[in-house]
Amino acid sequence: MNDKIWLSSPHMGGNEQKYVNEAFEQNWVAPLGPNVNGLEADLEAYLSQDIHVAALSSGTAALHLGLINLGVKPGDEVICQTMTFSASANPIAYLGAIPVFVDSESDTWNMCPKSLEDAIRSRMIATGKEPKAIIPVHLYGMPAKMDEIMAVAKKYNIPVLEDAAEGLGSSYKGQACGTFGAMAALSFNGNKIITTSGGGALVCSSKEQKDQTVFLSTQARDEAPHYQHSQIGYNYRMSNICAGIGRGQMEVLNDRVTARRSNNQFYQDLFRDIEGVTVFVEPSSDFFSNHWLSCITIDEKVAGKSREDLRLALLEENIESRPLWKPMHLQPVFSESPFYGTTVAEDLFNCGLCLPSGSNLSDDDRARIKEAVLAFFK
Ligand SMILES: *Cc1c(COP(=O)(O)O)cnc(C)c1O
Repeated sequence: MNDKIWLSSPHMGGNEQKYVNEAFEQNWVAPLGPNVNGLEADLEAYLSQDIHVAALSSGTAALHLGLINLGVKPGDEVICQTMTFSASANPIAYLGAIPVFVDSESDTWNMCPKSLEDAIRSRMIATGKEPKAIIPVHLYGMPAKMDEIMAVAKKYNIPVLEDAAEGLGSSYKGQACGTFGAMAALSFNGNKIITTSGGGALVCSSKEQKDQTVFLSTQARDEAPHYQHSQIGYNYRMSNICAGIGRGQMEVLNDRVTARRSNNQFYQDLFRDIEGVTVFVEPSSDFFSNHWLSCITIDEKVAGKSREDLRLALLEENIESRPLWKPMHLQPVFSESPFYGTTVAEDLFNCGLCLPSGSNLSDDDRARIKEAVLAFFK
Protein backbone atom coordinates (compact mmCIF):
# COMPACT_ATOMS: atom_id res chain seq x y z
CA MET A 1 0.00 0.00 0.00
CA ASN A 2 1.18 3.51 -0.80
CA ASP A 3 1.77 5.95 2.06
CA LYS A 4 -1.25 7.91 3.13
CA ILE A 5 -1.69 11.33 1.55
CA TRP A 6 -3.24 13.56 4.20
CA LEU A 7 -5.69 16.39 3.76
CA SER A 8 -3.39 18.77 5.66
CA SER A 9 -0.58 17.76 7.97
CA PRO A 10 1.99 19.71 10.02
CA HIS A 11 4.95 21.02 8.01
CA MET A 12 7.97 22.15 10.02
CA GLY A 13 10.32 24.73 8.57
CA GLY A 14 13.53 23.87 10.43
CA ASN A 15 14.00 26.58 13.04
CA GLU A 16 11.15 25.50 15.32
CA GLN A 17 13.52 23.21 17.24
CA LYS A 18 15.97 26.07 17.78
CA TYR A 19 13.37 28.16 19.57
CA VAL A 20 12.16 25.17 21.58
CA ASN A 21 15.74 24.34 22.58
CA GLU A 22 16.27 27.93 23.73
CA ALA A 23 13.25 27.56 25.96
CA PHE A 24 14.77 24.40 27.47
CA GLU A 25 18.20 25.93 27.90
CA GLN A 26 16.79 28.95 29.71
CA ASN A 27 14.29 26.81 31.63
CA TRP A 28 11.40 28.78 30.13
CA VAL A 29 9.45 25.52 29.98
CA ALA A 30 6.67 26.93 32.10
CA PRO A 31 4.05 29.08 30.42
CA LEU A 32 5.02 32.59 29.38
CA GLY A 33 8.54 33.57 28.41
CA PRO A 34 10.34 35.11 25.46
CA ASN A 35 8.86 32.89 22.75
CA VAL A 36 5.31 33.96 23.67
CA ASN A 37 6.27 37.63 23.38
CA GLY A 38 8.26 36.87 20.23
CA LEU A 39 5.38 35.08 18.52
CA GLU A 40 3.01 37.91 19.38
CA ALA A 41 5.44 40.46 17.94
CA ASP A 42 5.88 38.33 14.79
CA LEU A 43 2.11 38.16 14.28
CA GLU A 44 1.68 41.89 14.88
CA ALA A 45 4.38 42.64 12.30
CA TYR A 46 2.87 40.18 9.82
CA LEU A 47 -0.67 41.50 10.07
CA SER A 48 0.82 45.01 9.79
CA GLN A 49 -2.10 46.98 11.17
CA ASP A 50 -2.45 48.84 14.40
CA ILE A 51 -3.31 45.70 16.34
CA HIS A 52 -2.27 43.79 19.46
CA VAL A 53 -2.06 40.00 19.62
CA ALA A 54 -2.51 37.69 22.64
CA ALA A 55 -1.19 34.14 22.14
CA LEU A 56 -3.57 31.53 23.60
CA SER A 57 -3.93 27.78 23.95
CA SER A 58 -6.31 27.39 20.97
CA GLY A 59 -8.42 29.18 18.41
CA THR A 60 -11.49 28.08 20.34
CA ALA A 61 -10.14 29.78 23.48
CA ALA A 62 -9.53 32.92 21.38
CA LEU A 63 -13.16 32.96 20.22
CA HIS A 64 -14.35 32.38 23.80
CA LEU A 65 -12.29 35.26 25.22
CA GLY A 66 -13.23 37.40 22.22
CA LEU A 67 -16.91 37.05 23.01
CA ILE A 68 -16.25 37.79 26.70
CA ASN A 69 -14.32 40.92 25.70
CA LEU A 70 -17.27 42.02 23.57
CA GLY A 71 -19.55 41.70 26.58
CA VAL A 72 -21.60 38.66 25.55
CA LYS A 73 -23.72 37.45 28.48
CA PRO A 74 -26.18 34.58 29.09
CA GLY A 75 -29.32 35.00 26.99
CA ASP A 76 -27.66 37.34 24.44
CA GLU A 77 -27.84 36.41 20.77
CA VAL A 78 -24.70 36.12 18.63
CA ILE A 79 -24.80 35.85 14.83
CA CYS A 80 -22.52 33.18 13.35
CA GLN A 81 -21.85 31.93 9.84
CA THR A 82 -23.60 28.55 9.56
CA MET A 83 -21.06 27.01 7.18
CA THR A 84 -18.07 26.48 9.45
CA PHE A 85 -16.39 24.21 11.96
CA SER A 86 -18.29 23.79 15.25
CA ALA A 87 -15.57 25.71 17.14
CA SER A 88 -16.89 28.96 15.61
CA ALA A 89 -20.22 28.46 17.41
CA ASN A 90 -19.43 26.45 20.54
CA PRO A 91 -18.01 29.41 22.51
CA ILE A 92 -21.38 31.18 22.09
CA ALA A 93 -22.96 28.25 23.93
CA TYR A 94 -20.18 28.22 26.58
CA LEU A 95 -21.44 31.68 27.60
CA GLY A 96 -25.09 30.65 27.75
CA ALA A 97 -25.75 32.87 24.73
CA ILE A 98 -27.80 31.85 21.70
CA PRO A 99 -26.25 31.32 18.27
CA VAL A 100 -28.21 32.70 15.31
CA PHE A 101 -26.98 31.13 12.10
CA VAL A 102 -26.65 32.91 8.75
CA ASP A 103 -26.35 31.31 5.32
CA SER A 104 -23.42 31.64 2.91
CA GLU A 105 -23.30 33.42 -0.44
CA SER A 106 -22.06 31.41 -3.38
CA ASP A 107 -18.97 33.50 -4.38
CA THR A 108 -16.90 33.04 -1.23
CA TRP A 109 -19.00 30.42 0.63
CA ASN A 110 -18.88 32.85 3.57
CA MET A 111 -21.50 34.87 5.45
CA CYS A 112 -24.06 36.39 3.07
CA PRO A 113 -24.30 40.14 3.85
CA LYS A 114 -27.99 40.22 2.82
CA SER A 115 -28.95 37.28 5.03
CA LEU A 116 -26.92 38.92 7.80
CA GLU A 117 -29.06 42.05 7.62
CA ASP A 118 -32.27 39.95 7.45
CA ALA A 119 -31.15 38.13 10.57
CA ILE A 120 -30.38 41.34 12.49
CA ARG A 121 -33.74 42.93 11.61
CA SER A 122 -35.71 39.79 12.42
CA ARG A 123 -33.97 39.28 15.74
CA MET A 124 -34.56 42.93 16.70
CA ILE A 125 -38.28 42.41 16.05
CA ALA A 126 -38.33 39.05 17.85
CA THR A 127 -36.31 40.05 20.91
CA GLY A 128 -36.41 43.86 21.00
CA LYS A 129 -32.63 44.17 20.93
CA GLU A 130 -29.66 43.84 18.59
CA PRO A 131 -27.53 40.71 18.54
CA LYS A 132 -24.38 41.23 20.65
CA ALA A 133 -21.74 40.21 18.07
CA ILE A 134 -21.24 38.90 14.54
CA ILE A 135 -18.86 36.03 13.71
CA PRO A 136 -17.97 35.79 10.01
CA VAL A 137 -15.46 33.12 8.94
CA HIS A 138 -12.78 33.11 6.20
CA LEU A 139 -13.58 29.56 5.21
CA TYR A 140 -10.80 27.45 3.73
CA GLY A 141 -8.78 30.68 3.62
CA MET A 142 -11.22 32.53 1.34
CA PRO A 143 -11.80 36.07 2.61
CA ALA A 144 -15.41 36.89 3.44
CA LYS A 145 -16.92 40.01 1.79
CA MET A 146 -15.69 42.18 4.64
CA ASP A 147 -16.65 45.56 3.13
CA GLU A 148 -20.30 44.58 3.00
CA ILE A 149 -20.30 42.71 6.31
CA MET A 150 -18.61 45.62 8.11
CA ALA A 151 -21.09 48.07 6.55
CA VAL A 152 -24.05 46.09 7.93
CA ALA A 153 -22.31 45.72 11.31
CA LYS A 154 -21.66 49.46 11.47
CA LYS A 155 -25.24 50.32 10.48
CA TYR A 156 -26.56 48.40 13.49
CA ASN A 157 -23.56 49.14 15.69
CA ILE A 158 -22.72 45.47 16.34
CA PRO A 159 -19.06 44.44 16.85
CA VAL A 160 -17.50 41.85 14.53
CA LEU A 161 -15.37 38.97 15.82
CA GLU A 162 -13.64 37.48 12.76
CA ASP A 163 -12.99 33.76 12.82
CA ALA A 164 -9.70 33.86 10.90
CA ALA A 165 -8.63 30.39 12.10
CA GLU A 166 -8.30 29.26 8.49
CA GLY A 167 -7.38 32.63 7.04
CA LEU A 168 -3.91 33.59 8.26
CA GLY A 169 -2.06 34.84 5.18
CA SER A 170 -5.24 35.75 3.27
CA SER A 171 -6.27 39.31 2.46
CA TYR A 172 -9.22 41.26 1.10
CA LYS A 173 -8.59 44.39 -0.98
CA GLY A 174 -5.02 44.31 0.26
CA GLN A 175 -5.91 44.19 3.97
CA ALA A 176 -5.00 41.11 6.02
CA CYS A 177 -7.81 38.84 7.19
CA GLY A 178 -7.96 39.12 10.95
CA THR A 179 -7.66 42.94 10.97
CA PHE A 180 -11.18 43.99 9.94
CA GLY A 181 -13.26 43.28 13.03
CA ALA A 182 -13.10 44.58 16.58
CA MET A 183 -11.29 41.31 17.28
CA ALA A 184 -10.23 38.17 15.42
CA ALA A 185 -9.34 34.59 16.32
CA LEU A 186 -6.39 32.72 14.79
CA SER A 187 -5.67 29.00 15.14
CA PHE A 188 -2.39 27.09 15.12
CA ASN A 189 -3.95 23.65 15.38
CA GLY A 190 -2.03 20.80 13.73
CA ASN A 191 -3.87 20.95 10.41
CA LYS A 192 -3.85 24.73 9.94
CA ILE A 193 -1.56 26.69 7.59
CA ILE A 194 1.01 26.98 10.39
CA THR A 195 0.92 25.11 13.68
CA THR A 196 2.23 25.32 17.23
CA SER A 197 1.05 21.70 17.75
CA GLY A 198 -1.99 23.29 19.36
CA GLY A 199 -2.60 26.97 19.92
CA GLY A 200 -4.33 30.12 18.84
CA ALA A 201 -4.34 33.87 19.24
CA LEU A 202 -6.76 36.71 19.75
CA VAL A 203 -6.14 39.76 17.58
CA CYS A 204 -7.22 42.85 19.54
CA SER A 205 -7.66 46.45 18.41
CA SER A 206 -6.24 48.03 21.57
CA LYS A 207 -3.55 47.43 24.14
CA GLU A 208 -6.24 47.46 26.85
CA GLN A 209 -8.14 44.63 25.15
CA LYS A 210 -4.96 42.63 24.84
CA ASP A 211 -4.04 43.19 28.49
CA GLN A 212 -7.55 42.15 29.54
CA THR A 213 -7.28 39.02 27.36
CA VAL A 214 -3.93 38.05 28.88
CA PHE A 215 -5.38 38.70 32.35
CA LEU A 216 -8.42 36.48 31.74
CA SER A 217 -6.29 33.77 30.10
CA THR A 218 -4.03 33.51 33.17
CA GLN A 219 -6.72 32.91 35.80
CA ALA A 220 -7.68 36.57 36.32
CA ARG A 221 -5.30 37.27 39.19
CA ASP A 222 -5.63 40.69 40.73
CA GLU A 223 -2.42 42.46 41.69
CA ALA A 224 -1.68 41.21 45.20
CA PRO A 225 1.03 39.08 46.85
CA HIS A 226 -1.58 36.39 47.57
CA TYR A 227 -4.09 34.91 45.14
CA GLN A 228 -6.86 37.46 44.83
CA HIS A 229 -9.67 37.28 42.26
CA SER A 230 -12.52 39.58 41.41
CA GLN A 231 -13.41 38.00 38.06
CA ILE A 232 -13.78 34.49 36.66
CA GLY A 233 -10.55 33.51 34.92
CA TYR A 234 -9.41 30.88 32.44
CA ASN A 235 -6.28 28.84 31.85
CA TYR A 236 -5.96 29.74 28.18
CA ARG A 237 -2.44 31.19 27.74
CA MET A 238 -0.09 29.65 25.18
CA SER A 239 2.96 27.88 26.58
CA ASN A 240 6.47 29.09 25.82
CA ILE A 241 7.29 25.72 24.21
CA CYS A 242 4.38 25.91 21.76
CA ALA A 243 5.20 29.54 21.03
CA GLY A 244 8.75 28.45 20.09
CA ILE A 245 7.29 26.19 17.40
CA GLY A 246 5.16 29.13 16.29
CA ARG A 247 8.18 31.43 15.90
CA GLY A 248 9.83 28.92 13.59
CA GLN A 249 6.60 28.57 11.64
CA MET A 250 6.22 32.34 11.21
CA GLU A 251 9.56 32.33 9.35
CA VAL A 252 8.02 30.10 6.66
CA LEU A 253 4.42 31.35 6.62
CA ASN A 254 4.78 33.08 3.24
CA ASP A 255 6.29 29.90 1.73
CA ARG A 256 3.35 27.90 3.10
CA VAL A 257 0.89 30.27 1.48
CA THR A 258 2.73 29.99 -1.85
CA ALA A 259 2.74 26.19 -1.65
CA ARG A 260 -0.97 25.95 -0.85
CA ARG A 261 -1.81 28.36 -3.62
CA SER A 262 0.16 26.24 -6.06
CA ASN A 263 -1.83 23.18 -4.93
CA ASN A 264 -4.97 25.11 -5.85
CA GLN A 265 -3.50 25.84 -9.28
CA PHE A 266 -2.71 22.13 -9.66
CA TYR A 267 -6.37 21.28 -9.02
CA GLN A 268 -7.56 23.98 -11.43
CA ASP A 269 -5.41 22.41 -14.14
CA LEU A 270 -6.44 18.88 -13.22
CA PHE A 271 -10.19 19.51 -13.29
CA ARG A 272 -10.26 21.99 -16.20
CA ASP A 273 -11.53 19.39 -18.67
CA ILE A 274 -13.61 17.29 -16.30
CA GLU A 275 -17.24 18.20 -16.81
CA GLY A 276 -19.40 18.83 -13.79
CA VAL A 277 -16.51 19.57 -11.43
CA THR A 278 -15.77 23.15 -10.28
CA VAL A 279 -12.69 24.16 -8.29
CA PHE A 280 -13.35 26.78 -5.59
CA VAL A 281 -11.34 29.87 -6.64
CA GLU A 282 -11.17 33.56 -5.76
CA PRO A 283 -14.16 35.43 -7.25
CA SER A 284 -12.03 38.46 -8.24
CA SER A 285 -8.67 40.10 -7.64
CA ASP A 286 -10.13 41.74 -4.49
CA PHE A 287 -9.71 38.36 -2.82
CA PHE A 288 -6.37 36.77 -1.95
CA SER A 289 -6.86 33.32 -0.41
CA ASN A 290 -4.14 31.32 1.35
CA HIS A 291 -6.06 28.31 -0.08
CA TRP A 292 -5.65 26.51 3.22
CA LEU A 293 -7.76 23.74 1.74
CA SER A 294 -8.52 23.33 -1.94
CA CYS A 295 -12.13 22.32 -2.53
CA ILE A 296 -14.32 21.25 -5.42
CA THR A 297 -18.04 20.93 -5.99
CA ILE A 298 -19.43 18.15 -8.14
CA ASP A 299 -22.64 18.53 -10.13
CA GLU A 300 -23.75 14.92 -10.00
CA LYS A 301 -26.19 15.29 -12.91
CA VAL A 302 -23.38 16.40 -15.22
CA ALA A 303 -20.48 14.39 -13.82
CA GLY A 304 -22.52 11.21 -13.33
CA LYS A 305 -20.78 10.70 -10.00
CA SER A 306 -21.14 12.16 -6.52
CA ARG A 307 -18.64 13.70 -4.18
CA GLU A 308 -19.02 10.61 -1.98
CA ASP A 309 -18.13 8.35 -4.94
CA LEU A 310 -14.94 10.36 -5.43
CA ARG A 311 -14.13 10.40 -1.71
CA LEU A 312 -14.35 6.59 -1.56
CA ALA A 313 -12.35 6.14 -4.76
CA LEU A 314 -9.56 8.33 -3.34
CA LEU A 315 -9.68 6.45 -0.04
CA GLU A 316 -9.08 3.21 -1.98
CA GLU A 317 -5.79 4.79 -3.07
CA ASN A 318 -5.01 5.85 0.50
CA ILE A 319 -5.70 9.50 -0.31
CA GLU A 320 -7.62 11.47 2.30
CA SER A 321 -10.39 13.87 1.29
CA ARG A 322 -13.33 15.19 3.27
CA PRO A 323 -16.83 16.62 2.71
CA LEU A 324 -17.13 20.37 3.28
CA TRP A 325 -18.12 21.54 6.76
CA LYS A 326 -21.67 20.48 7.57
CA PRO A 327 -23.59 23.69 8.30
CA MET A 328 -24.27 24.38 11.98
CA HIS A 329 -28.03 24.84 11.51
CA LEU A 330 -28.17 21.23 10.30
CA GLN A 331 -26.26 19.90 13.32
CA PRO A 332 -28.36 18.07 15.90
CA VAL A 333 -26.74 20.05 18.73
CA PHE A 334 -27.90 23.38 17.24
CA SER A 335 -31.30 22.25 15.90
CA GLU A 336 -33.13 24.77 18.14
CA SER A 337 -31.14 27.79 16.94
CA PRO A 338 -32.63 30.34 14.53
CA PHE A 339 -31.34 30.29 10.94
CA TYR A 340 -31.60 32.93 8.19
CA GLY A 341 -31.02 32.22 4.53
CA THR A 342 -31.82 29.62 1.92
CA THR A 343 -29.96 26.45 0.94
CA VAL A 344 -26.59 27.81 -0.24
CA ALA A 345 -24.58 26.24 2.59
CA GLU A 346 -26.65 23.07 2.56
CA ASP A 347 -26.18 22.61 -1.21
CA LEU A 348 -22.43 23.19 -0.88
CA PHE A 349 -22.25 20.57 1.85
CA ASN A 350 -24.08 18.06 -0.33
CA CYS A 351 -21.80 18.40 -3.35
CA GLY A 352 -18.47 19.68 -1.99
CA LEU A 353 -15.22 17.94 -1.19
CA CYS A 354 -11.89 19.12 0.33
CA LEU A 355 -8.83 17.65 -1.38
CA PRO A 356 -5.29 17.06 -0.07
CA SER A 357 -3.87 20.55 0.36
CA GLY A 358 -0.80 20.35 2.60
CA SER A 359 2.14 22.63 1.87
CA ASN A 360 4.23 19.44 2.14
CA LEU A 361 2.57 17.60 -0.78
CA SER A 362 5.34 16.25 -3.00
CA ASP A 363 5.37 15.99 -6.79
CA ASP A 364 4.87 12.24 -6.34
CA ASP A 365 1.83 12.88 -4.14
CA ARG A 366 0.34 15.16 -6.77
CA ALA A 367 1.04 12.58 -9.49
CA ARG A 368 -0.80 9.92 -7.46
CA ILE A 369 -3.75 12.24 -6.88
CA LYS A 370 -3.88 13.10 -10.58
CA GLU A 371 -3.79 9.45 -11.60
CA ALA A 372 -6.56 8.52 -9.14
CA VAL A 373 -8.79 11.41 -10.23
CA LEU A 374 -8.33 10.76 -13.96
CA ALA A 375 -9.00 7.04 -13.49
CA PHE A 376 -12.15 7.81 -11.51
CA PHE A 377 -13.63 10.17 -14.12
CA LYS A 378 -12.53 8.11 -17.14
C1 LIG B 1 -9.66 25.21 13.55
C2 LIG B 1 -10.79 26.14 13.63
C3 LIG B 1 -11.20 26.71 14.84
C4 LIG B 1 -10.66 26.29 16.18
O1 LIG B 1 -9.33 26.38 16.35
P1 LIG B 1 -8.59 25.42 17.43
O2 LIG B 1 -7.24 26.01 17.51
O3 LIG B 1 -8.61 24.04 16.85
O4 LIG B 1 -9.35 25.50 18.70
C5 LIG B 1 -12.21 27.64 14.82
N1 LIG B 1 -12.83 27.99 13.69
C6 LIG B 1 -12.50 27.46 12.50
C7 LIG B 1 -13.22 27.90 11.28
C8 LIG B 1 -11.48 26.50 12.44
O5 LIG B 1 -11.18 25.94 11.26
